[in-house]
Amino acid sequence: MVDFPTFGVNIFLLIGLLLAAGLLILLLVAGWTGLNIGLWHWRRRQSEEAEHRRRFRSDGRPYPPAARGICGRCARTCESVYHLPDGVRLCPECYDAQGM
Ligand SMILES: [Zn+2]
Repeated sequence: MVDFPTFGVNIFLLIGLLLAAGLLILLLVAGWTGLNIGLWHWRRRQSEEAEHRRRFRSDGRPYPPAARGICGRCARTCESVYHLPDGVRLCPECYDAQGM
């Protein structure tokens, strides 16, 4: 014999528990997605700033085109050597030392 009042209360408790669990899962997924979106925006801004620092000097003027090569002043081989408009090739250290 089934105890109907207890059965009814238990069913309501189970449904409430399931709803609460579903809501909790939804909240967790939404929070996780929001966190990832925030992290993605932050990382994108960081990489854009790094790229800007790599391509532009602190006064806002762009660096000349660069490629792997040999510096014309200190004769070192560097990953990036600036090719100046007058044909001179300078490594970043010599370029900064020249004060251009
Ligand atoms: Zn050099």
